[in-house]
Amino acid sequence: MTYPVLPKPASDQMRVRPHIADIDLARQGFTWDAVAKELGWLPGGDLNKAYLCIDRHANGPLASKLAMIWEGKGGEEERYTFADLKAETNRIANALAQLGVKKGDRVFLFLDRVPELYFTFFAALKLGAVIGPLFSAFGPDPVRDRLQDSGAAVLVTQPDLLRKVEGILGDLPALKHIVVLRRNTAEQPVANRRCQDYAALVRGASSSFTIVPTSYDDFSVMHYTSGTTGKPKGAVHRHLAILQQYATGKWVLDLHPDDIYWCTADPGWVTGTSYGMLAPWSNGVTQVISQAGFSARGWYQTIQKHRVTVWYTAPTAIRMLMKAGEALPARHDLSSLRHICSVGEPLNPEAVMWGMKAFKQPIHDNWWQTETGAIMIANYASMPVRPGSMGKPLPGVEAAVVDAYGKTTTPGTEGDLALRPGWPSMFQTYWNNRPLYESRFRNGWYITGDRARMDTDGYFWFVGRSDDVINTAGHKVGPFEVESVLLEHPAVAEAAVIGKPDPLAMEIVKAFVALKDGYQPTDELRHSIMQHARARLQSIAPRELEFRPSLPKTRSGKIMRRLLKAQELGLPLGDTSTLEE
Ligand code: ATP
Ligand code: MG
Repeated sequence: MTYPVLPKPASDQMRVRPHIADIDLARQGFTWDAVAKELGWLPGGDLNKAYLCIDRHANGPLASKLAMIWEGKGGEEERYTFADLKAETNRIANALAQLGVKKGDRVFLFLDRVPELYFTFFAALKLGAVIGPLFSAFGPDPVRDRLQDSGAAVLVTQPDLLRKVEGILGDLPALKHIVVLRRNTAEQPVANRRCQDYAALVRGASSSFTIVPTSYDDFSVMHYTSGTTGKPKGAVHRHLAILQQYATGKWVLDLHPDDIYWCTADPGWVTGTSYGMLAPWSNGVTQVISQAGFSARGWYQTIQKHRVTVWYTAPTAIRMLMKAGEALPARHDLSSLRHICSVGEPLNPEAVMWGMKAFKQPIHDNWWQTETGAIMIANYASMPVRPGSMGKPLPGVEAAVVDAYGKTTTPGTEGDLALRPGWPSMFQTYWNNRPLYESRFRNGWYITGDRARMDTDGYFWFVGRSDDVINTAGHKVGPFEVESVLLEHPAVAEAAVIGKPDPLAMEIVKAFVALKDGYQPTDELRHSIMQHARARLQSIAPRELEFRPSLPKTRSGKIMRRLLKAQELGLPLGDTSTLEE
């Protein structure tokens, strides 16, 4: 099956004019100084993400604009303006200062997606602290690993979450304070000498606060990577990253002042902070934050209820929506949606085409990783989408496909996806692991760990992670191509392929498949899927296919092929701290 290039929308048909009319033109002669100027930042002056996201708006005409529409698990709602955010963040900043939190201290957040998570994040930035957000679904081991590795001084959490990890507290001598948020006063306080009650700290704290001076180079946020390919690494970002987070909010998410924006990612991974906090609020945009987890019906209801206009989500979620069928979106009023973006895994062409049916518009794939801090390669609102492609690099970003020596390859050749260091949101190190950081560079390029190809028009195409590429009978097979073909079969909801050692072919392609509702894992169906794959892929089609009720994924929704491989080969599973249960 070949997929059509989706036509570039005529500008008079678009509800708003895209910020970037022509990406190739925008890339010419671009400098980041223009973005700095737009944000009002003078190089050499202080730069603080919290100021740019909150106080700047609260001190100006946007003070009474709605910043956050929060929807709780039970459907309850809370609303905060930029002025409210300034007051709330100032109160908790004063409270943390009282506890002795200083510039450079690591403050870790282990909270559900509740408003206080957002208040504390920006409060700690105002103090010049370094934030480490953790998924609330983590168990004791991943929490201990991250608090130990970072030497965190403060943990902000909730009683039920703290009880879950109580057993690790003795292993954390550097942890001075545990701030416990009880949203519901019926929740029992936790008795531990290091515990402080959030409400008691904030009560009586002043709503004025002078931001501790931070330079562009000071660390601001550290995120542990998803752990898809191995033990998670703590990528550290500085305040300067806000330039790129702001700019990509405009160029890629195409945010405009009257948008209602919804990012479905949890702040436990980088999309949930770069695009669930920093990009929308540095752009002064209203965002919806939903505490509830995934449910197809619930998600459509959220879009309908809040008239969401711009939606940023992930391929796994889109595949789950596809699994739930097309009738469901048709029963909701999703007419407010004008722009949809996706990140986290490759977006299969089938999913882009499904978006055309379900939402009457393409889903715009974009590529980046924890280390890059912000979007690097994207499909832009004004650009024709080539389904299956990640799009083109941002203005101010130099991306290339390089060979084993770090030399750029000719268009069409597969190689390592590489980036020229120096973009504003580039990670500064892996915490406690400088040698690993340094090992990621080759001939002046940062090597991303992904394999890709660029076509003659400058579009980038994802092949697979370097670790996942399969070597079968002399062919290098990228999992993405094979999985995308498997997903074209009407019965297939999810697919992952691995290389299984083989005495003749070196490796054979083995597929793992989860079926859509209503399909049974029969031999006949296996035959039908393999036939379809053979017709489309010939020699690189899977030789074996195993049905699974679901595929192992990280908490950020990424399929863990290394686990499938380890299980297949009977090897140790390695780090499973981020595995979704
Ligand atoms: P770890 O580094 O711990 O193995 P991880 O790489 O999955 O985990 P993240 O930084 O959360 O951790 O994910 C970034 C990776 O996700 C990218 O390097 C890439 O492999 C994949 N990815 C993200 N967006 C896309 C996309 N649009 N297309 C293809 N792959 C993507
Ligand atoms: Mg990675």
